[in-house]
Amino acid sequence: MKLHEYQAKALLSKYGVPVPRGEVASSLSEVRRIAKSFEGNCVVKVQVHAGGRGKSGGVKLVKDVDSAVAVAEQMLSGNIVTIQTTAEGVPVNELLIEEALDVTKELYLSILVDGGLGRVIVMASEAGGMDIEKVAEDSPDKILKEVIDPNIGLMAYQARNLSIGLGLDREFHSQFIKLLLGAFNAFIQTDCSLIEINPLVITSQGQLLAIDAKASIDDDALFRQKDESFNYDSRQELEIENLARASGLSYVKLDGDVGCLVNGAGLAMATMDVIMAAGATPANFLDVGGGADVNKVHKAVDILLSDSGVKKVFVNIFGGILRCDVVAEGIVAATKSRKTHTPPIVVRMLGTNADEGRKILKEAKIGVHLVNDFTEATKTIKSLS
Ligand code: GDP
Ligand code: MN
Repeated sequence: MKLHEYQAKALLSKYGVPVPRGEVASSLSEVRRIAKSFEGNCVVKVQVHAGGRGKSGGVKLVKDVDSAVAVAEQMLSGNIVTIQTTAEGVPVNELLIEEALDVTKELYLSILVDGGLGRVIVMASEAGGMDIEKVAEDSPDKILKEVIDPNIGLMAYQARNLSIGLGLDREFHSQFIKLLLGAFNAFIQTDCSLIEINPLVITSQGQLLAIDAKASIDDDALFRQKDESFNYDSRQELEIENLARASGLSYVKLDGDVGCLVNGAGLAMATMDVIMAAGATPANFLDVGGGADVNKVHKAVDILLSDSGVKKVFVNIFGGILRCDVVAEGIVAATKSRKTHTPPIVVRMLGTNADEGRKILKEAKIGVHLVNDFTEATKTIKSLS
């Protein structure tokens, strides 16, 4: 679950990481009030679940209240498109208005899960700011990395290594180490998968501060992060993914034209490989899960088919706790309730009640292509293109 910048900053601040003074606004009158409190000397920042705002007009420094309001009016008038969004962009509903700081140096700091290592890592660079991706590509040696032992956590020497590696003047070491430990505690205590502070700045007043912050909470840990009451902003996400989330389905939209409905994440991934092997591309990842009922399968098919890019569907079910007849009934109910044309559906069913499931699909006469194995599935998907 992605947090907005202002939410990530509130979290970091709670753990002792210094952040600029600021407030969120969603109307021009609020912008005026907040900008006045900084005597007009402020930064206006769009709050969206995407980075790259600075290069797309989503971050503006202003010197007076009227300019703050003018900039805010422009920002609130439509979507913002950055290198990290779709061509359509994301809506701007909120702005963060912060005191403007006199920045003398921009650093980079992040804490994230490294899937390859199976460890949390801390990364830091003295070349922070808007071109960090280019730094990572052209001069990876400028990015320092500490791998965290999960049994011990971040060790003081690792924080010191980074501080020294960043080439900070002596006076900043204790500030940096305290800040990093705070950010690390926030990461662990709130089950984050990412905290990124870019830039982490040094001001002319000699203070280290997070002037940008990104945070993501691991969705699988949300059940135990309820107290934190992170207000999730679903307006920033795709409508289709919100629908799936509300129905308890794991759905990720992809760019291809073969919609997939599968039970189990491993099988879902293998299925996407098969689709690629057939020379086609999956339109989505969709795991209905083990405990689905007819209604949930019906919803899953609805969501899958609501993507206009889907030209054919591959249902790949290995019946276990989820019975094949339940899946078949869900598919039949969904296709029968459709008012528009249903793309061809290829179904492979094995396991619990597979015969019953196949019978239901045959008798419903909804034009499903029943296949017996992956090879046949591949051939059929190919023949449909
Ligand atoms: P991003 O482009 O989405 O990562 O947005 P950031 O919050 O990182 O802002 C982009 C850039 O704006 C930063 O890299 C800074 O250079 C600049 N910036 C943001 N806030 C301030 C500020 O208070 N003072 C100054 N001088 N620059 C700022
Ligand atoms: Mn940034």
